[in-house]
Amino acid sequence: MGAGEHAVAIVGGGPTGMMLAAELTLAGVGALIVERDEVPVPAVRSRGLQSRTIEVLDQRGVGERFVSAGMPAQVLHFPTTLDISDFPTRRPYGLALGQNRFEEILRDWLAELGVPVLRGCAVTGFTQHDDGVDVFLADGRSLRAGALVGCDGGRSTIRKAAGIAFSGWDPSMSSLVAEAHVRDASEVGTIHRDEKGTYAMGPADDGHVGIVVRDEDLTRDGDPSLADLRAAMISAWGTDFGVHDPRWISRFTDAARQAASYRDGRVLLAGDAAHVHTPMGGQGLNTGVQDAVNLGWKLARVMKGGSPESLLDSYHAERHPVAAQVLQKTMALTALMRGDARSEALRDTIGELMLLDAPRKMMAGMLSGLDIHYDLGEGHPLLGRRMPDLDLGSRTVYDLLHDARPVLLNLGEPGALQSDRVRRVDATYDGPWELPVLGEVAAPAAVLVRPDGHVAWVGDGGDDGLADALSTWFGPAA
Ligand SMILES: Cc1cc2nc3c(=O)[nH]c(=O)nc-3n(C[C@H](O)[C@H](O)[C@H](O)COP(=O)(O)OP(=O)(O)OC[C@H]3O[C@@H](n4cnc5c(N)ncnc54)[C@H](O)[C@@H]3O)c2cc1C
Repeated sequence: MGAGEHAVAIVGGGPTGMMLAAELTLAGVGALIVERDEVPVPAVRSRGLQSRTIEVLDQRGVGERFVSAGMPAQVLHFPTTLDISDFPTRRPYGLALGQNRFEEILRDWLAELGVPVLRGCAVTGFTQHDDGVDVFLADGRSLRAGALVGCDGGRSTIRKAAGIAFSGWDPSMSSLVAEAHVRDASEVGTIHRDEKGTYAMGPADDGHVGIVVRDEDLTRDGDPSLADLRAAMISAWGTDFGVHDPRWISRFTDAARQAASYRDGRVLLAGDAAHVHTPMGGQGLNTGVQDAVNLGWKLARVMKGGSPESLLDSYHAERHPVAAQVLQKTMALTALMRGDARSEALRDTIGELMLLDAPRKMMAGMLSGLDIHYDLGEGHPLLGRRMPDLDLGSRTVYDLLHDARPVLLNLGEPGALQSDRVRRVDATYDGPWELPVLGEVAAPAAVLVRPDGHVAWVGDGGDDGLADALSTWFGPAA
């Protein structure tokens, strides 16, 4: 694949677009972010990271930047708190960290990596050619790229222009969430749950108040205004408490939709552009960041001519089922959180079940992202799962992944395995092999770890199947 003016154009500089730009840059492929907003909107939206998201950041050596800015906590709820402190990971917790701060830290990292960002530029459409994509901007300019990735959120222009279906379920509820000033703070610190839904006000920083309130009109789709917020507050509380000067206002619904295809030729979708669902359960940002980590190294290989374009099909094959499951679980959570007596009874019953070890581990493994399993065929339980961050003496496994390149980790006889395509590391590890949810598994003699940290091949002492795995993931045999 020959590169155009830019190797990859990424539309949208949210969490997904930024993570993808970092992944491509680390893999040696130039990425340009084109972002509609002139300046970043300080919307908090997501309030935290799941364990696997912290791990993928650890894989690049930047996890600590985020952890030190947030508060490690048990953040999983279904519908009761799911404690993962007994999970075998260096990060047996989530991280309370507002999305605005998360994005700030990502932006600083991108600046260090030298990623160019074109701000204040909305993309309006594109035309695909055999060897690239022409990308059109609202100001009349256009640019040429080898590939285009729509990370432009739930109302994705790229998805619509590509004609990719976004089917699923319409909203049954809608809420406005905002940070603003109020003249009357008498209700700050209260939370109500009744037939008007959940509506609450709590203190935020700089004298702002965080507000969540039901929006009666399910048909509205554009950005919410201060007038919308006032109307919703009057409907819930009977007054708008003199709300003014919002820092940001956002809308969330329980609509659940997923793109039918994550790829159309050289145009790909990731993050909210590919899947939307209720924020309940705290999955959206995390799924998007992990989409980016799955896609980045594959797209980089294809752009550099090291792998055929068909490698990109594995992005849809692996990530579409993950988001489909997220949609299913968040829809279940929405149903459980309804305020009527029957839903409450069901919520309590599921809550009791979640006190048992097996259901808790199964659900927490999925929601934390620690038990994501890509279907790479039959074999050792590690195949297709995330590689644990084992201690290898002077370094850990994730230290070996900092440069976003694959590793053939040989834990058997030194020099036993050969590969001219990926770096081989001989190491020793005598400890247990424990996977989240599954528990202890047989120790392998070697593993081929992809740049996204998933295991592509497991060796039991010989090299059976290694050549095939190397050519599947890292190009045709030399
Ligand atoms: C109230 C609320 C609470 C949430 N809580 C959580 C949570 O606790 N945990 C969690 O994981 N997730 C949560 N989410 C979801 C999370 O915010 C999103 O999943 C996440 O922001 C998706 O990231 P993204 O980069 O894919 O898309 P976005 O963050 O939507 O970013 C898209 C970017 O593309 C830009 N853009 C759009 N169109 C164009 C265009 N035509 N040209 C150029 N640029 C364009 C936008 O300006 C934006 O910067 C919550 C969401 C809401 C609304």
